[in-house]
Amino acid sequence: KVVEGEKLRKKLHNTILELKGNIRVFCRVRPLLSEDCVGAEANVISFPTSMEAQGRGIDLAQNGQKHSFTFDKVFTPEASQEDVFVEISQLVQSALDGYKVCIFAYGQTGSGKTHTMMGNPESSENKGLIPRTLEQVFETRQSLQAQGWKYEMQVSMLEIYNETIRDLLSGFDASRPENGGKQYTIKHDANGHTHVSDLTVVDVQSSSKVASLLRRAAQSRSVGKTQMNENSSRSHFVFTLRISGVNESTEQQVQGVLNLIDLAGSERLSKSGSTGDRLKETQAINKSLSSLSDVIFALAKKEEHVPFRNSKLTYLLQPCLGGDSKTLMFVNVSPDPSSTGESLCSLRFAARVNACEIGIPRRQTSMRSSDSRLSIG
Ligand code: ADP
Ligand code: MG
Repeated sequence: KVVEGEKLRKKLHNTILELKGNIRVFCRVRPLLSEDCVGAEANVISFPTSMEAQGRGIDLAQNGQKHSFTFDKVFTPEASQEDVFVEISQLVQSALDGYKVCIFAYGQTGSGKTHTMMGNPESSENKGLIPRTLEQVFETRQSLQAQGWKYEMQVSMLEIYNETIRDLLSGFDASRPENGGKQYTIKHDANGHTHVSDLTVVDVQSSSKVASLLRRAAQSRSVGKTQMNENSSRSHFVFTLRISGVNESTEQQVQGVLNLIDLAGSERLSKSGSTGDRLKETQAINKSLSSLSDVIFALAKKEEHVPFRNSKLTYLLQPCLGGDSKTLMFVNVSPDPSSTGESLCSLRFAARVNACEIGIPRRQTSMRSSDSRLSIG
């Protein structure tokens, strides 16, 4: 049995090695919705069909000009939730193997971030990455149990709004929008684990337990938003699954972390309003999104100083970014013609993240061929 277990682990490890590089970028274009403004020039987005770009390329037309981008993967509007999950299931596997993983959804409000990350957890077809990930984790745990592996799982869910952490599992008290004055101080220990003081961390044994936690978090989110008169999509949502495994025969230990992050909308100031609370929100979002990209670029260039402390989000995720951890960014894009400007901004941002892996200038990204990729790790 031990031999079989080792074989399985080796197989898993090889699968992980096949994942190229530590930063990957996937693009997902959502379908046109009935509420979108459907103009004469509705097809602003197209997908190149050449051998080289198939499944990886996306073209965006703006004012008669075509902008081409290439990513590790491009999902067309027809891609199902299952199609998307198939492409990330290896990352989920690697967290069980002791890796630290971050999966981000980046894009303007309405581009499909929450659909991609959470979807409808109650629907077998429409559930997103978070519920699917949990199912896979618990299924795999079951099969690894037979090989002597014992896993413990812990879940926490929080939001970062205006650089303030909100615990989504604390039974959020709506009458005390600032979490009753709790500080939620972030600390990192010597083993590379993040501890947030006062944050609720729940031991989970089955995916059904997690389903009820997801419902609780969704409720806290909406209560918090109403209470604080907050625009939807103005906060970062961070789902964290901590995995500790020990093999009772070999005494081998693994400690993996899986972070799934639904980022605040990336839209620029003019669209989201620019006075009072909205201005403060937008500045906080800009700060944390630009800190995130600064951190990714500094890590890719192997700079000595990585500015993790510049935002709550990057400081929280510090142990899970860089090193031999794995990062995947979804750039979510709306096909609505009125969103073309924002889509172009999102694609350019994502192209920079994608290119930083091998340190080539941005304008060359769309000419890159698949075999020119190098690992940063
Ligand atoms: P965001 O979180 O980026 O603001 P949402 O995930 O809420 O965007 O998506 C906006 C709307 O588009 C929602 O009504 C959502 O159900 C729908 N939507 C997004 N992506 C898809 C998709 N791939 N297929 C079908 N509907 C989608
Ligand atoms: Mg959303």
